[in-house]
Amino acid sequence: MRPLYLDAYDRGILEERVERAHRVLENCRLCPRNCKVNRLKGEKGVCKTGAQAEVSSYGPHYGEERPLVGRGGSGTIFLTNCNLLCVFCQNYEISHLGEGYQVTPGVMAGMMMDLQKQGCHNINLVTPTHVVPQILSALLIAIPSGLNVPLVYNCSGYEEVETLRLLDGIIDIYMPDFKFWEPEKAKRYCKAPDYPEKAKEALREMHRQVGELVTDSGGIALRGLLVRHLVMPDNVAGTKEILNFIANEISRNTYVNIMNQYRPCGKAFEFREIARPLSRGEYLAALQWAKEAGLSRLD
Ligand code: SF4
Repeated sequence: MRPLYLDAYDRGILEERVERAHRVLENCRLCPRNCKVNRLKGEKGVCKTGAQAEVSSYGPHYGEERPLVGRGGSGTIFLTNCNLLCVFCQNYEISHLGEGYQVTPGVMAGMMMDLQKQGCHNINLVTPTHVVPQILSALLIAIPSGLNVPLVYNCSGYEEVETLRLLDGIIDIYMPDFKFWEPEKAKRYCKAPDYPEKAKEALREMHRQVGELVTDSGGIALRGLLVRHLVMPDNVAGTKEILNFIANEISRNTYVNIMNQYRPCGKAFEFREIARPLSRGEYLAALQWAKEAGLSRLD
């Protein structure tokens, strides 16, 4: 299966999307924060990112979902900064404190090519939402150099549908988190009470674009939607409702990774209810809810 972006490139669609996406940066509303700052002039909003993308590291990664990793690994590019900023982030230095360095589109394209040459099965863009225009510019350079592995959009789920539409026909694999069901929780931990609504809209749009996960005969992901959900202490995430939403309003055949690795990081110790790791019982309850919801494609 040919990556979608090759067609978009051949038909001139990618070039047009690069221009449209960069225009959004003049009055930035790439994500639901809707900061309306002129990032092309160096102004910064919630994501603290100006005109250029920043990267903290890149390389083959073997800890991602099985269909992304295979033998060659997933070619991750960790983008610096974030538009959601959870207080318990495991990558606090990168997302909140801005650990990383600025890269031009040419440098990012070089990273993509390097990962492909190393045998990675895909290019996995980690926390890409606030730098969609810069990623598209890099793609425009990487494609004529021979890029031909699927692109993975690995995001928090706090997305603007209009921005996702700029990626329609370009991104092969969407891998959003669905973090919180209740607005009050999203407000408490991310200052984003509209997160649940935006994540629901985003999942619907992603599924419309790429459908359910499709793999090759070796089980390597080629296209489709994978959803991640981190189970949290005290059920602050609203796991049961989220799994029911995925099963009933997206598809029972959705590939879902129910994650058990929560541990308090960043500022989590300032919030008593999440200042402890997840218990085994809490995780088993989440798996049971998935089963009851009819979800069977679990990572
Ligand atoms: S991408 Fe950054 S500047 Fe733009 S709206 Fe989102 S948080 Fe604000």
